[in-house]
Amino acid sequence: MATELTWLGHATFRLDTEAGTRVYVDPFLNGNPKCPENERSPERCDLVVLTHGHGDHLGDTVDIAKRFDCPVVAPVELRDWLTAAHDLPEANDQSPNKGGTVSFAGVRLTLTDANHSSSNWQDGKIVYTGEPTGVVVRQDGGPSVYFAGDTNVFGDMALIRRLYAPDVAVLPIGDHFTMGPEEAALAAELLGAPRVVPCHYGTFGLLTGTPDALRPLLPAGVELIDPAPGETLTL
Ligand SMILES: [Zn+2]
Repeated sequence: MATELTWLGHATFRLDTEAGTRVYVDPFLNGNPKCPENERSPERCDLVVLTHGHGDHLGDTVDIAKRFDCPVVAPVELRDWLTAAHDLPEANDQSPNKGGTVSFAGVRLTLTDANHSSSNWQDGKIVYTGEPTGVVVRQDGGPSVYFAGDTNVFGDMALIRRLYAPDVAVLPIGDHFTMGPEEAALAAELLGAPRVVPCHYGTFGLLTGTPDALRPLLPAGVELIDPAPGETLTL
């Protein structure tokens, strides 16, 4: 079986590994206007990965984790907050920080840097949920997939290239809260991934970046793959 990546709108992805492990990345399903109706209630999930604590990334995580009793890997403060505020089981093996790698069901997850912020709401107050991150997802015999999370472009993406040689880079392009197409093109150059999948655009009116604006800016040889929400790519 090949690795399959399904875009569920915004920054939400489902990744099915060669071995059949199903991973949700930032599962914002309900409340996500671009999530297909038939994708709002997952039929199974083996692992959830979160890049940061904002509501458009945390999404349905708590419901999914409780329904499928699956691990939720998240930056340490966010993971601890999910235990404290949402009764997820305490699990130190699910709470790495940047540079750390954890493995579940044959999937290796490495948290990377990201330039953004990370918070959520509790009892009417905003709470800090640690540093925002990106994540590199790797598996034996499968592609290296880098999810940038929410970020601007930063020079150390060159280190992500050197360390993890992503085959696919999933980049936000919507502008306003993250980088737009101009910065995403430079990110693609620094990352050196032969394929780029855009996300975090078109969900809300403020997110104006488009794949069509990014395409002509990309370095030669980089393929832009822009699935429709609900569409599955074979990696
Ligand atoms: Zn976001």
